[in-house]
Amino acid sequence: MSLLVVPAQVGEEQSLRLRLVQEAIEPSFLKLMQWDPPVGRLIFPKDHVQLGGVACRVEGCRKTSFKFAVAHGLCDTCDFHWQAAGVPVEEFLATARRTWRYVGKDACCVRDCPRPCKSAKEPFCYAHLHQQRVSGLSVQDFVRRSGVVALSSFGICQVLACDREKDYERTPYCMAHRNRLSVETRSGRVADEETWRRTTSPVTITGEINLRGLPELLVAEIIFGLQERTRSGAKTKDHSLRPLCDTARRQQVGSITEIDLAGLTRLQCQLVATFTTSIDRLGATPESERLKDVWDLVVFGMGGHLQFSDISQSWLREAAKAWAVEELPQRRGKRAHTTVQSGIRSLAKFSESLRLQRDDHGVTFDAWAGRTSSPSSTGRRFCSRRVSCPRTAATSGSPSSDRFCAACVPWG
Ligand SMILES: [Zn+2]
Ligand SMILES: [Zn+2]
Ligand SMILES: [Zn+2]
Repeated sequence: MSLLVVPAQVGEEQSLRLRLVQEAIEPSFLKLMQWDPPVGRLIFPKDHVQLGGVACRVEGCRKTSFKFAVAHGLCDTCDFHWQAAGVPVEEFLATARRTWRYVGKDACCVRDCPRPCKSAKEPFCYAHLHQQRVSGLSVQDFVRRSGVVALSSFGICQVLACDREKDYERTPYCMAHRNRLSVETRSGRVADEETWRRTTSPVTITGEINLRGLPELLVAEIIFGLQERTRSGAKTKDHSLRPLCDTARRQQVGSITEIDLAGLTRLQCQLVATFTTSIDRLGATPESERLKDVWDLVVFGMGGHLQFSDISQSWLREAAKAWAVEELPQRRGKRAHTTVQSGIRSLAKFSESLRLQRDDHGVTFDAWAGRTSSPSSTGRRFCSRRVSCPRTAATSGSPSSDRFCAACVPWG
């Protein structure tokens, strides 16, 4: 499968991750989303229970209603206009036509003319619009008039994420991006136009997500994350995922793990978390998971997580992991891991105690267990018989007995 959008300079680790993620994306999902790498758009199927919505009932409206029962099948904009009208919904639907502004851009009405039309009300490019006005003909009559032919394209907008036709020859941008650049420049938000071209978001189209201009790995991660989220039964609408893609583009990150979550909404953070979890599970085995300090128990055939990161001493952390591996199969039920996590929390408290009370912070097992031949800096050594024994070990006697306090010494 090829997902190439922008060639990315990725290290060996990222190359491996890219291959792993790409191989996990199913062709059937790419087909469902109508993914075409050169186009770089995910098209959300309208009739899909989890990804789609109901088409707005207002004539001429291209938007989707995601709350059919509440808003009577109207999109948010039409719902706003209906409520402002203050009439029953059926009466509103009988007369309403989508004449208010909408997002999207059509080509000129003249057959095969690639230039964008001026507006929905004046559906011609500027050259054909001028000809039509001069001719005095209606739109339909002008289109059928002999001698009205398609004109050559002015080229594509130079914003990296945009594939719209330019409406003038001498402008580098489509109309939407030209206007946006003008507004943002006036408000002092454009420090460098080259950077702006790479980072500004594409024009929103309902039901689509534009991934143009994003690194190949990030594109693969987004598609795979969406696939796994859909497979799990979760709903994901295009307007939920789009801001995250725009944030990644603005931050110029190479992978979903590099996205700075500061300032993101709760939903966006959730999407990053679920996408990352899905990717982390790829190729994971209990053996590979054991090396981490936070275990995803799905890898072990269970649910939940185990967290060892609060145990600062490596020897104690590894001992806790070994114990958890033995303990997990003994547990049953949805919350089985909570008992194991409770044991790990106790060890974390013990770890904290070592950290605070020992001069060496309990960094090595031998030092903690009194296996060193020289006494600690305080001249005290602690009994190694029991983890919980607070007593000081004997400082004289036989070489083996001085590791234990009088209460715990094996033959004492
Ligand atoms: Zn609508
Ligand atoms: Zn035209
Ligand atoms: Zn553009």
